Amino acid sequence: MNIKEVITPDSTTFNSAQNNKQATQQKYSRKNPYPAELLERVKLNAEGSEKETIHLEFKLEEAALTYEAGDSLAVLAHNADDVVKDIITLTKLNPNSLVQLKDESYTLLDLLTRKLDITTLSLSVIKRYNEFVKDEQLEKLIKPENKCDLKNYIQGREIIDLLYEFPAKELSADALISIMRKLPSRLYSIASSPKAHPGEVHLTVGVVRYHTHGRERKGVCSTYLADRISKGSKAEVFVTINKKFKLPVNKETPIIMVGPGTGIAPFRAFIEERKATGATGKNWLFFGNQNYSIDFLYQSEWENFLNEGILTKLDVAFSRDQKEKIYVQNRMLDNSRELYNWLEQGAYFYVCGDATHMANDVDDALHIIIEKEGGFEQDKAKAYVKKLKDQKRYLRDVY
Ligand code: NAP
Repeated sequence: MNIKEVITPDSTTFNSAQNNKQATQQKYSRKNPYPAELLERVKLNAEGSEKETIHLEFKLEEAALTYEAGDSLAVLAHNADDVVKDIITLTKLNPNSLVQLKDESYTLLDLLTRKLDITTLSLSVIKRYNEFVKDEQLEKLIKPENKCDLKNYIQGREIIDLLYEFPAKELSADALISIMRKLPSRLYSIASSPKAHPGEVHLTVGVVRYHTHGRERKGVCSTYLADRISKGSKAEVFVTINKKFKLPVNKETPIIMVGPGTGIAPFRAFIEERKATGATGKNWLFFGNQNYSIDFLYQSEWENFLNEGILTKLDVAFSRDQKEKIYVQNRMLDNSRELYNWLEQGAYFYVCGDATHMANDVDDALHIIIEKEGGFEQDKAKAYVKKLKDQKRYLRDVY
């Protein structure tokens, strides 16, 4: 969850200013992250919400790390102490024993906390672990013909469950770390414009916590950001340019943004940027979440933007405030004539958030609107959408 598509910049359409900026950004990377101080953390959902969404503000020395609205921030998280402790206890290993990773020496505790993915269970993890335990049941599970059983086993389980359910008689620290991959960085769409918040970068993060197979589970990075760094301490970060999710260069071009849940993040950055640059193009936001009174992320900011005339239109879909679900795509359909008119006026159409269901349903709604309002057959509507994509006016940041 929360691991997003990483879009690598291709150099063909970069102008020289962007190339310079990219050169600055390359200074910070996974190998050489920037230590950003946490300035602020605010819970965005009110009491009673099923969701836990947090707003974070990090300090950046402007010259050290730059970004644009639409870019993402990669965070190098630390694993949860209790999960590290459970693994050490279960394997009866000494947390202070020294282990080598590549050419560097670490204590086992440090390595499990900062460097290795100690949770994600996969076929390769099970295969590697089984080289040490040689368990018949695991042997069967990793056979190509038992893909379905493997999928069922992995579902809701983590490495700790494997260690617990198939204990090794003896497992060295080197053997333990050899079954794990490197801890990947997590990417979040940046929720601020650097022009509105010089020297800062903001994130909107959905905190992942759930219970499976008798254990509490925690999203590694989201709970790191929610629980394990304190204000004034530093998180290791770097910027990932997302050249494919940018505002139109022409400031008069209208934009339509569809961002339910944490998908709202880049649109806060976009609106702040449009205001800061004096862009005159119309801005239309579709936002959705479970309940109006507790899940309206950044509500007062949107109301201010509306009052100031920066936000031209705001349509909201609170899915659980009534018996039938109402989603952002229902609001698009309610406004189909106007939405089509905006597209005809050259509007860019942006979508951010859940890739599995929402992005496809929004895409279906877009096709329906074009068919209905443009008076097109299905094929023509498809071609219309394809043209939007070819013109880079239909842009998605979905994960
Ligand atoms: P979210 O779970 O995406 O929910 C935001 C709003 O979208 C809710 O009102 C939700 O309604 C609604 N929604 C659910 N299905 C939808 C659909 N097919 N089309 C349009 N709207 C739909 O928001 P979030 O909590 O901020 O998400 C956090 C993270 O989890 C994101 O990264 C998201 O992509 C990811 N996520 C992934 C999945 C998945 O299956 N891949 C599912 C949920 C979340 P209801 O909840 O009332 O149905």
